[in-house]
Amino acid sequence: MLDLLIRGALTVDPESGFCSRADIGIEDGVIVRVAESVDEPAETVFDAEGLAAVPGLIDTHLHLAPHPYGERMAAASGVTTCVEMAGPADRVFAGKLSDGCGLSVAVLNAVLPGTNVGGRDPSAAELDDFIERSISEGSFGVKLLGGHFPLTPEASARMVEESARLGAYMAWHAGTLTAGSDIDGMRQAVELAEGRSFHLAHINAYCRGRVRSELAECEEAASLLRAHPEIVTESYLSARSGAPLVRDENGDPLSKVVCGNLRRFGFTPDRKGLRQAVLDGVLSVILPEDGMLKLVSGRSGADALEEGRAADGSFDRVNPAVSRVYFATARRDDGTFLVDGIATDGGAIPRNVIAEAGLALVGLSALTLTEFAAKTSLIPARMLGLEGKGHIAPGFDADITLLSVKEHRAAASFAAGRPVLLNGRVVGQGGSVLCTEQGAAAVRRAGLTPQVLKGGIPALSRCFG
Ligand SMILES: [Zn+2]
Repeated sequence: MLDLLIRGALTVDPESGFCSRADIGIEDGVIVRVAESVDEPAETVFDAEGLAAVPGLIDTHLHLAPHPYGERMAAASGVTTCVEMAGPADRVFAGKLSDGCGLSVAVLNAVLPGTNVGGRDPSAAELDDFIERSISEGSFGVKLLGGHFPLTPEASARMVEESARLGAYMAWHAGTLTAGSDIDGMRQAVELAEGRSFHLAHINAYCRGRVRSELAECEEAASLLRAHPEIVTESYLSARSGAPLVRDENGDPLSKVVCGNLRRFGFTPDRKGLRQAVLDGVLSVILPEDGMLKLVSGRSGADALEEGRAADGSFDRVNPAVSRVYFATARRDDGTFLVDGIATDGGAIPRNVIAEAGLALVGLSALTLTEFAAKTSLIPARMLGLEGKGHIAPGFDADITLLSVKEHRAAASFAAGRPVLLNGRVVGQGGSVLCTEQGAAAVRRAGLTPQVLKGGIPALSRCFG
């Protein structure tokens, strides 16, 4: 007897190019049948008539550490696997224990000068120690947060070199002490890596039109990626930013990014400007409400800010449409996608719009449903070395997202055959942690289930269908 039978969905397997109405049979967390009609008894039958079944969405860039509800935010949007892009692992694990929703979660632990490394110019030995410590504590890999906590260019280059030497997965939010989080920072990151593989985070964020025109920056980024196929990447589709609302004793914002955005929208970069931006709805604060995280502006948002109840916020209209759409759809010369994944940089920042905005692109015929599934599951699975995911075919993990294509939303999802999202409500619990062999014991000690992967950045095949 089957554990679960998903009946009648338009079933999309981006690997084979299969895209047809089918029944999907699941046993012990694994897909065992995909056929036009499966006539076997099943403990649970899910009627998916009118929905599309795609391999469970994999968000290769989000943030869970800022709030334990982050995983629920991702789950509500149809995601079943995700990469937490800053850590620390113990905080993410604590959130997963209290509020886990059944997702597979990988953590990349960020270098924080003055906190987990000595300063802005750590030696190779110090970086080795940081990388090995992160992995043995259960992180899947490591991250350079160059846009927020930059290192010297030399130390940044050492970080790429040491990660590659140790076989650790490394992501980099471009930027060093001598280049910003923009197209110049991206060019410098690519040059400093000297042909070594790494995950270059949120490509669209370097093309906001701050240095050259938005389109000129997109084309420059594209030519860098075409010349460096060893670099893996993602981009996101939301216009919203993330805005850390840390303030000094006078209530003035400390984040350079927040001050820059306040000036751009015509506010003073101080306590008064911050409050006015929230009152005017240009900036929203992020607050927990009914088990989810909500964007709140106006008087109640400004009061929450004043009372110190809001650690994070989000500006609207920071990411131009040009770069968001460009990187979701741009191709290499061989027809494969230029950017490997559609991610969100969301989670605890309410911009989890893979389904919402990605399916809008399908509605515009900018992507086919098969291409959408490739960019939101198959290629991301390959980036992480997740051999069991990214497919809907017998023998693969029963991670499946059911989409209402016309309504641009996820209606339901299953991870390892267990429901995560049903009728738009998150019902999943627990879930596993993607880690390497060296980190499995730490994950178990934290009370969670490890799912062991090889680690490191694989040589990526971008072909499908
Ligand atoms: Zn991020």
